[in-house]
Amino acid sequence: MSQDSSPAPNPELFDTIVNLTKRRGFVYPSAEIYGGFRSTYDYGPIGVLLLRNVKDAWWRSMVQERGDVVGLDASILSPPAVWEASGHLANFTDPLVDCTNCNTRWRLDKLEDPEQCPGCGKRGTFTEPRQFNLMFKTQAGPVEDASAVAYLRPETAQGMFINFKNVIDTTRVRPPFGIAQIGKSFRNEITPGQFVFRTREFEQMEMEYFVPPADAQRWYEYWCNERYQWYLDHGMPADRLRVRAHDADELSHYSSGTSDVEFLFPWGWDELEGIANRGDYDLTQHAAHSGEKLEWYDQAANERWVPHVIEPAAGATRTAMAFLMAAYDEEEVRGEKRVVLRFHPRIAPYKAAVLPLSKKPELTGPAGELAASLRRSFMCDYDETQSIGRRYRRQDELGTPFCITYDFDTLEDRAVTVRDRDSMDQERVALAEVEAYLAEKLG
Ligand code: ATP
Repeated sequence: MSQDSSPAPNPELFDTIVNLTKRRGFVYPSAEIYGGFRSTYDYGPIGVLLLRNVKDAWWRSMVQERGDVVGLDASILSPPAVWEASGHLANFTDPLVDCTNCNTRWRLDKLEDPEQCPGCGKRGTFTEPRQFNLMFKTQAGPVEDASAVAYLRPETAQGMFINFKNVIDTTRVRPPFGIAQIGKSFRNEITPGQFVFRTREFEQMEMEYFVPPADAQRWYEYWCNERYQWYLDHGMPADRLRVRAHDADELSHYSSGTSDVEFLFPWGWDELEGIANRGDYDLTQHAAHSGEKLEWYDQAANERWVPHVIEPAAGATRTAMAFLMAAYDEEEVRGEKRVVLRFHPRIAPYKAAVLPLSKKPELTGPAGELAASLRRSFMCDYDETQSIGRRYRRQDELGTPFCITYDFDTLEDRAVTVRDRDSMDQERVALAEVEAYLAEKLG
């Protein structure tokens, strides 16, 4: 599923996107009035819509449209026992090196040249690598002793494993079935960066799919295909998306197969999501550490077995950025540059914008009412400032699929002009039909 005819990486696109996101209210550096804070970001009024749409689209296809996957929202704070059993306390580490010349720290496995410091350019200045655990440690309650130690989860997946028994005891699920969760995760990354691609606080969308052991390989292939198709269905261009199977030396010891869905970012191919065949590792570990039986009893066959797990694990914040980069387009229109985000309608922050042609109350009054009635169905912007041309350009940069212009003729003919973001074609649509017209076009 990899692409041979993919476009070349485009480093300039990165700065363009970062500027656009700040200028248009997608993403702001966190605590900016205090100088910002260590690669953390806040999602602004437009970004929060984009991120929510990505998560909703995932939830819709992974939970709502399936009869075999249920949802979960587990706590972020968790006791050491969970991470002891999962192996994170011992193994969730990255190799860290210090440069003795410029006192910077680097993640050794991500360096282009393991002998050269990217900070000062000197060679041979690194200390011996040491393993740095990425989990954020904190304390639950007012007493600072060992019993109060807690961790912020570095992934949402463990919530599904430790609730496996609760879910099978309290619902009607039976293998093959999945438990899905969207939520924040925290990793004390050594070198966060590339904007929201790698941050210490981020959002994940993960699903654990529990299957009979003999069917694991088949389900693994199924989920690789499903997840690849999900990105395509939401507007990712096929020539910037691929599935890459891990080589044997990249696999964790318990995984018999892992593939990444990769996107062609401005710096090259990089991971959006990992799909792993995890065997029975997680349930077996938690059963051994907790003393609970974490298995399935097949009544008909009178057999007990530990389900194997297929895990599609995606990043919501990273994926939102990828959708933004995939949607970005520039073109020349009547001698001027037009920037347009060609989002899939389901991903677009606003679905429509109502723009009265003038600020006169006889237009702004009913135009405002139109926006209010459309808002019952979807996110709809309203803008009465500046010239109509500039307002169109602003909506193009937000990726709004349709602009609805309310003009003086509307007062006579009870119709509005609907402008299509991609083709810029305009169509006169009866006021009474606008909502149905948009619903059909937006799918
Ligand atoms: P990497 O090798 O890039 O550190 P990973 O392979 O450890 O990532 P997983 O543990 O498989 O990542 O996490 C699943 C998904 O969560 C990733 O594909 C990515 O989309 C997202 N993710 C992981 N770490 C981060 C991070 N620090 N910032 C943003 N998203 C992240």
